[in-house]
Amino acid sequence: MSTRTFRIAVLGGDGIGPEVCDQSVRVLREIESRLNNVTFDFENHHVGVGEYRVSGNALPDTTFAACQSSDAVLLGAMGLPNVRYPNGKEIAPQLDLRERLGLYGGVRPIRLFNEADTPLKGYAAGEIDFVLVRESTEGLFYGRDAVLDPDADEAFDTMRISRDCTLRVCRLAFEIARKRGGKKKVTLIDKANVLSSMVFFRKVFDEVAAEFPDITADHCYVDASALFLVRDPQRFDVMVTENMFGDILSDLAAGLVGGMGMAPSGDIGATAAVFQPSHGSAPDIAGLGVANPIAMHLSAAMMLDWLDHPECKRGAKMIDDAVAKVLADPAKRTPDMGGKLSTTEITDEILKAI
Ligand code: ATP
Ligand code: MG
Repeated sequence: MSTRTFRIAVLGGDGIGPEVCDQSVRVLREIESRLNNVTFDFENHHVGVGEYRVSGNALPDTTFAACQSSDAVLLGAMGLPNVRYPNGKEIAPQLDLRERLGLYGGVRPIRLFNEADTPLKGYAAGEIDFVLVRESTEGLFYGRDAVLDPDADEAFDTMRISRDCTLRVCRLAFEIARKRGGKKKVTLIDKANVLSSMVFFRKVFDEVAAEFPDITADHCYVDASALFLVRDPQRFDVMVTENMFGDILSDLAAGLVGGMGMAPSGDIGATAAVFQPSHGSAPDIAGLGVANPIAMHLSAAMMLDWLDHPECKRGAKMIDDAVAKVLADPAKRTPDMGGKLSTTEITDEILKAI
């Protein structure tokens, strides 16, 4: 059997991004050594505020080209809160990357690995387990490039919900529910009682639901879903929602299972995908060696799963199982989760568990 080589573009980025990314490459190298007939070709590329300071471009053409031609992209984090373009706009190459690669769906699995890590009572490992799918190209963040007139007496943002973008993100959510094979349920999170854009979202969602008769479709208002996430997270299997609702709910959801350091994500497009932790560059702890790399490692596992090769899928499960094994011991935690291990030390534990 011939060997299959997967080209992975590795973009460390800013803040803790490179620290957690380097650790995930260590994990992936360990996995590679255990897979049959599969190798990974990692290529590091510059991106982010650091790169902007050097070259004046936060997403250089060479980096973008590498993302386009690779089999997948592993990304740490990009952006720093106090560094902006001269016009005051946020330097957010992750949004440019999403747009240019057509990454329409932000997939955020939320899973409790140990009952000690949730602020909720009465949930054992695995009993909080759902996926949030966030539309990533439009919604209420659609007009992010609008510049505020300093003399304005009013300001507006636009909620754009288009048929095409809604169809594709809803289909992605239903396909994930089918693949998970759990409760086989997709809940649309909307605000159809108030916003006509959300009435439209619901109408398109219902059309997609009819394409998936084996999956239960359900609706929940976004305010109620915030309550249910805290009171009864088990009512959810796959949730799908517009951009900003997804942004907010994914932080809430991460808080249910240990915080931002536990929340992986995949930005999925038709022909490309970028895997990165849900958190940002966390400049307050950058360089201290204490960042929690688990969200990054779980994102690397999502990447292997997405590569859709039986050996890579086996590798993805090896990472998930190793993380579960390490976290089964409540003493093995980084400081954000009340522990004492460094970024490297907890990764060492994961390598041992593999
Ligand atoms: P973004 O705008 O990209 O969403 P943000 O401003 O929401 O970024 P984050 O960088 O996601 O901020 O993180 C907020 C805080 O959470 C950080 O300042 C840091 O203290 C903590 N944090 C985030 N990720 C981690 C991690 N992997 N390990 C430990 N602490 C983290
Ligand atoms: Mg945030």
